[in-house]
Parts: sequence; structure tokens; C-alpha cells
Amino acid sequence: MKTKEEVIKLREEIIRVSLELLEKGLIVRTWGNISARIDDTHYIITPSGIKYEDLEPSMLPVVCITDGSYEGEYKPSSEFLVHSAVYKSRNDAEFVIHTHQTYATIVGVLGKKRLKAEKHEKKLVFPVADYGLPGTEKLANNVKEALGRCNDTKSVIMANHGSLSFGRTGEDAVKEALSLEAAAQKYIYTVGKTEIDFGLDEGFSSYIEDGEIKYTTAQTPERIKLIHKEIYSKRPDVKYIFHNKSEAVMTISRRVNHMKPLLDDFAQIIGTGVRIPTSEVMGLQIKKNINVVFGHNDGAYCLGVNEDEAKAAAIVLDKGCIAHIAVIRYGEGKFLSYFDCLKMNRNYRKNYSKLAETVND
Ligand SMILES: [Zn+2]
Repeated sequence: MKTKEEVIKLREEIIRVSLELLEKGLIVRTWGNISARIDDTHYIITPSGIKYEDLEPSMLPVVCITDGSYEGEYKPSSEFLVHSAVYKSRNDAEFVIHTHQTYATIVGVLGKKRLKAEKHEKKLVFPVADYGLPGTEKLANNVKEALGRCNDTKSVIMANHGSLSFGRTGEDAVKEALSLEAAAQKYIYTVGKTEIDFGLDEGFSSYIEDGEIKYTTAQTPERIKLIHKEIYSKRPDVKYIFHNKSEAVMTISRRVNHMKPLLDDFAQIIGTGVRIPTSEVMGLQIKKNINVVFGHNDGAYCLGVNEDEAKAAAIVLDKGCIAHIAVIRYGEGKFLSYFDCLKMNRNYRKNYSKLAETVND
């Protein structure tokens, strides 16, 4: 049993770790969640939908491991069930982090049961939990099953979603997540037969201000301006277009003509699938509720209601492209079903508009 002071320290430690994960790039925006055990049946966790930079120790709810009930003003992260699964399965888990870290997540789309690696001549095995929709009991059970297969692992990859890492302390858990990411990156570089790094490479972006299109670069070519105009006219909900010409995006646009989602965050933020024009005459594929438009050999236009959302789509697309390339070069991969994608996309849009309403209040 921890004392009151120890629990306060744990709350502060969760916030410190969340900022460290942001700084190290293992977590982007509010994606991911962090928790710490208080006793046999309770843990503290980061709340749902609040920026890590804005978190105060008192805002973290306490969740009951056995029945999922919680105490506190803020709702626990919607992904709390997988944290409960780790605490139930492992007595040595005192601190759990869940991220969508790039390379571990990508390993989880290849249909593998485990990732094997070596570190300082020590053999490491990271199990992959079977797919389950985010926030469901099914996913929590799959995590439990994966942990059961691999008794000494401190990390689990969740198929088509992300990963979990844990340890005795926050520092231990971060170390585990970093070690998983290094092993996964090495594997993806080998499997992908090239080193594609995650990152954005901005081309010509624009936004709507007072009903007019403003370009972020004065030298935006006329040809590109026409693309922006067409997108805004067909998608009146869009207020920001982020143009990404990263290596991953350019590579995928030359290789495939339809990007089906491999990852949950792609389905949520971008949509159920993106068509890529295979010739100049095919024209732009601008669709309702699909937040990416590929140009012909010209990168991808990522759409949002503001800069933040457009960049979110760009980040998720870039990771999705690397995942897609890995699947092509590995020769195997598991795509998400259309109906799962539709469900996740609808949920995301519903929650997002709710969130936007509260911000406006
Ligand atoms: Zn997640």
C-alpha cells in the first residue's frame, strides 16, 4: 500500500514521463496513455483527450483493475482496458505506457506472431497481440493472451495499433519502449530493404482566412493553387491543407493506386481508404470524410479543420505509408476490414465534434 505522498509522487511521475515520451517522439499529440499502479486493485492513468502539456497531477483519474470503475473529475483514457490487462497479468508491472510509436506499430501490421531481436547478446522476444478494436474487451483479452505466451517480455505489440511497455518504474517502462522501438526499427529497415525515416517534408500548404485561400509559400505555382482551390470547393469543411512530399509518401504514390488502412489511427483520422491517381488525366480523388488527397506524383494534400488536424492527418499518413511499403517488401500484411474502419472513423468524428463543441462553450 502506498502512502498519500507516494501517490502524489506517482501522479507527478506520470506527467514527467508523458512529456519525456513526447520529447523522444514515442508519443505524438494526445495519442497514447500512461498509468501507474497504486495497489493490487487500482492504478492512476492519464485522462482522455487532454494535451499532455496541460495536465495537472490532480487531473489523473484512479481506475479499479477488477471492474473498470473510476474516481476523479476526468474520464480515464478510452484505452484503459489494456492497462488493466497488463496489471492483471503481471505482478511486476508498476508502470505502463501505451504508444503508437512508429516502428513497433509497423511491425504489428505484418501478420507476425512475435518480433525477435538481440541486445547485448541477450535474446529478446516481443509478442504481437491479435487485432481487436481499440477500447474493447477483445483487445484486452488478446493482450493478456500475448503476455501469457511470453513470460519474460516487458513489451507487447498490438496488431494494427501500437504497443505497450511496462516496468517497475516510469524510467524502466520508457527504457523498455525505447528498446522495443530500436529493435523494431532495425527489423523494418532490414525487411523494407531501405531506410525510410518517419517525418514530414512540407511542400505547398494553405489555409482559409476570412473566406480567402492564403498560401504559406509565396512562390506556390499556379498548377498547385488550382489543386488547393478544387479541394476547398469540394470540401467546404476543410480549412487547412498541409502538403506532404516525404520520401514515404512519394514512394507509395508510385507503387499503389489504393491505400487501404493498415492502422487504427489511419482509419480514424484519414478515413476508410485513399485512392491514388495513376495518371494525370485521372484527376484528384476528393471524397467526403477522406482527409488525404494524392496528387499525381506530387505528394499528398492532408486536410483538416485547422492546422493541427491537417498535420495530424499528415503524420498518420506518413506512418501509414511506411507501413504499406513494409508490407509490399515483406510480401505479407494484414489490412483492417472496411467495416472496422468505418466504425472507427464514425466514432472518431463523433467524439471530435463533441470535443470541438466543448472547446467552443
Ligand atoms: Zn492507442
